Amino acid sequence: MIILVINCGSSSIKYQLLDMKSDTDYSLKAKGLVEKITLPEGRIVHKPSGKEPFEQVLPIPDHTVGMKLVLDALVNPQHGVLGSYDEIQAVGHRIVQGADFFEGSVLVDEDVLRKIEICCDFAPLHNPAHLLGIRAMQSVLPKVPQVVVFDTAFHQTMPEEAYMYALPYNYYKDYHVRRYGAHGTSHQYVSREGARFTGIDINNSKIITCHIGNGSSVTAIKDGKCIDTSMGFTPLEGMIMGTRCGNVDCNVIPYIMKKENLSPDEMTDIMNKKSGFLGLSGFSSDMRDMLAAADEGNARAQLVIKKLIYDIVKLIGAYTAVLGGVDLLVFTAGIGENNAFLRKAVCEKLAWLGVRIDDDANSHNGQEMLLSTPDSKVKVALIPTEEELMIARDTMHITAK
Ligand code: ADP
Repeated sequence: MIILVINCGSSSIKYQLLDMKSDTDYSLKAKGLVEKITLPEGRIVHKPSGKEPFEQVLPIPDHTVGMKLVLDALVNPQHGVLGSYDEIQAVGHRIVQGADFFEGSVLVDEDVLRKIEICCDFAPLHNPAHLLGIRAMQSVLPKVPQVVVFDTAFHQTMPEEAYMYALPYNYYKDYHVRRYGAHGTSHQYVSREGARFTGIDINNSKIITCHIGNGSSVTAIKDGKCIDTSMGFTPLEGMIMGTRCGNVDCNVIPYIMKKENLSPDEMTDIMNKKSGFLGLSGFSSDMRDMLAAADEGNARAQLVIKKLIYDIVKLIGAYTAVLGGVDLLVFTAGIGENNAFLRKAVCEKLAWLGVRIDDDANSHNGQEMLLSTPDSKVKVALIPTEEELMIARDTMHITAK
């Protein structure tokens, strides 16, 4: 089954075209990125499997034009991979926020679109863009079924003591204020794949997954179901991230707003885009820059790295307690997959738990790998995340019904 997976941002469209024969038998036919939609210098970068990549700079006024460019690239005689649009059998969209409306992936209809629209309030940067993407796709491929896969759905199994804030109850009733989590598609994929890869029965397991990238979150998973996760009402809560602050005492926020005469929108921007690695170091949100500067003796870059390790260890400790133990620890995403130093530093601080890692195995990056030694009391694995594959699998199952 040929499935187009779409991850639509406010000014970009990331896509992958997959040929899915089954959950495990599949091939990537092409992937690419349309960016700077609405700006004069829009760009499409298209990478077909087994053919030369293709790039074009042109004005892309809106998402519908962007989607047409994607489809044209896919059927182009030189760098295309399809004979015609009709070969696309289904489209799967990544949706950041589904709140408590959605416990799993669903086929798009008007009611689903209405609920995604309601969720725009909780994900103002992401959900409106996803809706534009779905509408654009409906206009260019009106007969093709579309499925939405939510980043929040996997976390819907959290118990109320994990998802409730101790704020007046009516904020939950009236405004849906509670913890929803994020990166759910990734946590679900790497926990399942990690269990399979290390020979653990997912239905009888205690797993902690660490998705450490530009955005980062840690999740506690019991018998395959999420019981707690570090992100909250929005993807700001939890640990230090590239540009997000993670947890701070809420009283700090009005205090700084008064001191610096900031509006709520300005403060939101600071917490989401100017904090984290960038805010603490003062020069970059990128982990590679932190590592290079720390090596040269930059004390603030060293602080960022120490805090990152500390936050992960603290979350793993808390989730080990919540789970009543841990069988498997999984590292994934940009930093988790590519930074052996961070994985080793975290695992060394978990020696009290009986965690032991093999330095040789840990020196491998970006591939599935068992990192723990045979005598380690907890298995540790590196599992590259495959969110697009999860979206394609769900899309295949839902449209096949
Ligand atoms: P996003 O949350 O945007 O999907 P990623 O998961 O791609 O982000 O993670 C991006 C982060 O991964 C950046 O901080 C980047 O520096 C880091 N990263 C990528 N490669 C390496 C590497 N080889 N060593 C350390 N960090 C890396």
